[in-house]
Amino acid sequence: MSRIYDVAVIGAGVIGMSILRELTRYRLKICSLEKMEDVAEGASKANSGIVHAGYDPIEGTKKARFNVEGNNIFADVCNELDVEYKMIGSLVVAFDDYEINVLEELLQRGRRNGVKGLEIKSQEWVLANEPNLSRNIKAALFAPYSGITNPYKLTVALFENAIQNGAEVIFGFEVCRIEKDDDFFIVRSADDRVVRARILINCAGVYADEISRMAGARNFKIYPRRGQYYILDKPKKLPVNRVIFQVPTEKGKGILVTPTVDGNVLVGPNSEYVDSKDDTSTTQEGLDEVFEKARKVLPSLSKRDVITIFSGIRATPDTHDFIIEEDEDVKNFINVAGIESPGLTSSMAIGKYVAELVSDKLNAKRNLDFNPYREDIKRFSKLSNKEREEMIKLNPRFGNIVCRCELVSEYEIIEAIKRGATTVDGIKRRTRAGMGRCQGGFCLPRVMDILSRELKIDKTQITKFGKNSYILTEKRWEDKNGKI
Ligand SMILES: Cc1cc2nc3c(=O)[nH]c(=O)nc-3n(C[C@H](O)[C@H](O)[C@H](O)COP(=O)(O)OP(=O)(O)OC[C@H]3O[C@@H](n4cnc5c(N)ncnc54)[C@H](O)[C@@H]3O)c2cc1C
Repeated sequence: MSRIYDVAVIGAGVIGMSILRELTRYRLKICSLEKMEDVAEGASKANSGIVHAGYDPIEGTKKARFNVEGNNIFADVCNELDVEYKMIGSLVVAFDDYEINVLEELLQRGRRNGVKGLEIKSQEWVLANEPNLSRNIKAALFAPYSGITNPYKLTVALFENAIQNGAEVIFGFEVCRIEKDDDFFIVRSADDRVVRARILINCAGVYADEISRMAGARNFKIYPRRGQYYILDKPKKLPVNRVIFQVPTEKGKGILVTPTVDGNVLVGPNSEYVDSKDDTSTTQEGLDEVFEKARKVLPSLSKRDVITIFSGIRATPDTHDFIIEEDEDVKNFINVAGIESPGLTSSMAIGKYVAELVSDKLNAKRNLDFNPYREDIKRFSKLSNKEREEMIKLNPRFGNIVCRCELVSEYEIIEAIKRGATTVDGIKRRTRAGMGRCQGGFCLPRVMDILSRELKIDKTQITKFGKNSYILTEKRWEDKNGKI
């Protein structure tokens, strides 16, 4: 038996989830089909988290349009969804006359794109405002409306709000065949489930070219382009106050140093084409490149502060621009593909644009019950002692700290599970348990205990991120209470 929808969105990254949420503004039966067990398992979990101002994309492109529109509405959407967004501004720093000319080009391009507040600042201004930066910096382009956010928490928030407003997300549904009859797409999963939808939207990230081909739609190619990063421990005082970029090259926006919304420092990414679309490994060579280039800007950078490394894969299309369009030949099939940077920044504007396109096609009525607001989980680490005491009175589990590094309580972990987390990474991304200095060394067994108890599954069934990523391979011993 197949399930029938007005619209199915393939892929539960930030783009798919933004579109899904925007679609819930209309009276439509909608779902998302995601091959993994959670949202934000692709590029949306591993990027710089920068909300770009919009001086970088070439004018007239979709990237330029959606970047600037996305930046303009980003704060409001984060506000509705209770997601952190800090408009800290950014600097592109120049070391010589050639680079100063590039700043001038970026300034003019940004103004043509409609970016407000851009200014070229002198060396004196830069060093007065960012005293830890290299004395060799000659000037910088200042963009006051750039910001930082948490990309996976944003994706989770979009997902939760979409569900609240009536959407469905079907996890573990790997789209592997698409057929079409007169009215419906017939979408089959690898395990032979079937979904029918009148409109099909392709937000499959690095796999979007394969999905487009499966549907018999436009032929384009997506090249996986990896970026590697360091995350530094939370310092007492941040070494930079803004996002610090170097001048862009043909390889992209270059290596940046930035505070994160959680108070860490993020350094990266480099840019390297890789053979596999799933190759999120890190390499010594790539990380050394990141470190050396970042040290040119911030000489005090030290590897002693590094707490973890990771990489993300950009979905770089051979069209050199976002592909956001209904297919010319396959009616009702919409590609939202090649969404590399500034895709996170553009996500809210893309969501609105695509949902309007769909509602026009289906002549959909407004959902008068749509509620744009979603509340985040109450965080122990964010409350005053008085507020903590009050919360503990209401729920003693708020006083049981599971992750010591990030001060995450048992209450928060249970709440994350209630909201859809089923894996260790799902808990980590929603609560930060395991994201601190010890990287889960202390809290992992305790998180697994809670997952096992709340989901009523054996601990050997718990995975890091679904599929076969089991953490325990076999049961060697358990006490009389079933504790391994
Ligand atoms: C290193 C790096 C740095 C970046 N920095 C920034 C930045 O600072 N600012 C910014 O604005 N943007 C940035 N970006 C871009 C941004 O991360 C992306 O544009 C955005 O995350 C893309 O979201 P998405 O939903 O299209 O893709 P994804 O998040 O990759 O989601 C695609 C989803 O499709 C699913 N899927 C794939 N195939 C199938 C299938 N057959 N069936 C079902 N599901 C499937 C995947 O599992 C995945 O969940 C960066 C990207 C990278 C990699």
